[in-house]
This record gives sequence, structure tokens and C-alpha cells, in this order.
Amino acid sequence: MPQRAVIREVGPRDGLQILQRVVPTATKLAWIRGAYDAGQREIEVGSFVPARLMPQLADTAEVLAFAKTLPGLTASVLVPNLKGAERAIAEEADLLLVPLSASHAHSLANLRKTPDEVVAELGRIRAARDAAGSRTRIEVGMSTALGCTIQGEVKSSEVVRLVQAALDAGVESISVADTVGYADPAMVARLFEQVLKVAGDRFHTAHFHDTRGLGLANCMAALQMGIRKLDACLGGLGGCPHAPGASGNVATEDLAYMLASMGVETGLDFDKLIALRGQLAGWLEGETLHGSLWRAGLPRTMRPQPEEVSA
Ligand code: ZN
Repeated sequence: MPQRAVIREVGPRDGLQILQRVVPTATKLAWIRGAYDAGQREIEVGSFVPARLMPQLADTAEVLAFAKTLPGLTASVLVPNLKGAERAIAEEADLLLVPLSASHAHSLANLRKTPDEVVAELGRIRAARDAAGSRTRIEVGMSTALGCTIQGEVKSSEVVRLVQAALDAGVESISVADTVGYADPAMVARLFEQVLKVAGDRFHTAHFHDTRGLGLANCMAALQMGIRKLDACLGGLGGCPHAPGASGNVATEDLAYMLASMGVETGLDFDKLIALRGQLAGWLEGETLHGSLWRAGLPRTMRPQPEEVSA
């Protein structure tokens, strides 16, 4: 196990984009401030997509501007294409994340481009970043890398081919996502071994959904393969649009608990995370939140006992 791991909060993007409601900007800023106060230092704050396609994230520029006022915070945004990337560069995001579907069918449905057309776009994004003299880093998020609701099986050889192509196009880091919650720990170990062979330490982030209850188990498999950064959503937001009520991303607070219990440092404060989760439940009244830690709290073994405090 590593000594330290990073939990990247993706709730303000992955968690909110699926909701029918549009969360007010002030609420997003309060969430990001709360996450920062709880120790989170990497947050995906939104996405530069046309507002008519995703009104939930139309205020991304404003949210990003706020995030950039928090010292030491790495603020990332998701962008589907060069146009979005140009905005991310202009607004000085620390990192722009481009989704690249390993599933041909998902890529066409989601982005109306083949995976190889997205790779070509990556080259244009890299050129635009360099031409702007920008410090915004470029990451590819390999989505549907472990299965796809449209296509079914996704071949690991195709994931590896696209990772290599993305790196050749000038991408600086790779994350791998089980977008639809099909993965199990053995699949994670097999795929990650192959991706690490081509990407080395440029592959350091994994993104799991808990759709079928294997989110934390898959995080564990990723950690054992040397992955040091894991995406998560407070309250396990980010359910599946095709399965109403289904659990979403791995819950930030549960993942933080698993890591802390194993002695892996995350820098997160549980009381603050749980309090923030309570606030989030209020902000999103009527939405289903997930996760387990908030029900039972920390075990006695992870709490200083009164006699120890007074001694
Ligand atoms: Zn996701």
C-alpha cells in the first residue's frame, strides 16, 4: 500500500451533471469551499460544454474562477473537444480532462465522433495549449474502459491502443474510468497492468462507479497496481442515467475511510466531510445520496477516546 493517496473530488461535475435540477452557483462554491476546508486539494469543478446541452454546468467559468482563489487547489474541468479546451485554457484551469471512449458505440453516441477522431482532436488541443503558452495540463480520461452499456464488452487491446495514441498525440496523463460500473477487481488488475506497460507513471488516476457495489473493491485493486489517485463523489452522487436510483461514483467519505483505516494518508478531515455531506443532502433535497460511513460514523478504534484526551 502507498503511504499517501489523493482523492480527487468529481462531485461538482460528475455528480451534478446527471441531475435534472440546476444547482445554484453559490451552492457549488459552498461545496467547493467545504471540500477544500475538509482537506481536498484536487476538484473537478465543471465542464466546458455548450450550455444548451448541459445547463447544470453552464456556470463552469465562474466556479473555476472561485476554485482558483483557493491556495494549493488543483482545479480541473472536463472538455469534450477543442472548443471546450480553448475555454479551459483561456480560463486557466490547472488541468483539462478530455474523455476518450474505448467503446466505439459509446463514443459515437456521446461525442458523435469515433475514438480515433477524438485522438486527432487531442493533437489539436495540445497544439492550442502550446501555442497559448498555457500551463494547463492535459489528461485523457479513458471512459468505458471496462465495459459499455451500449457495446457490452470493451477489448483491453483497444484501450491500450487508444492510450498509446493519446500519449502520441501529446496528452500528459491518463486516467481510466469504469464509467458504467461493469468492472470487478480482477478485471481492473488485468487491464491496469497492460495500460501501465504503455503509459508508465503517466497513468496514475482511476475512476470507479459503485453501480453494482464493487466501487471500493475496484479502488483497492487499483491501489495494489500502483495507482495513487482516485476519483470520488461526496455522498456517492453520479448515478447512471439508464438506471434511476442506481448508486453513483464511489463515495468520497467511504473511500477516505478505507484509506485511513489502512494507514494510507489522504489529508482529509472526517468530521468536516460528514458535515459537508449533511449540507449536500440539504442542498439536493429529494435526490438519493449513497455511501455507508455517514450512517455509522467512524469506529471507536479511529476515534480518540475521552480518557486518552484527558490523560
Ligand atoms: Zn463518472
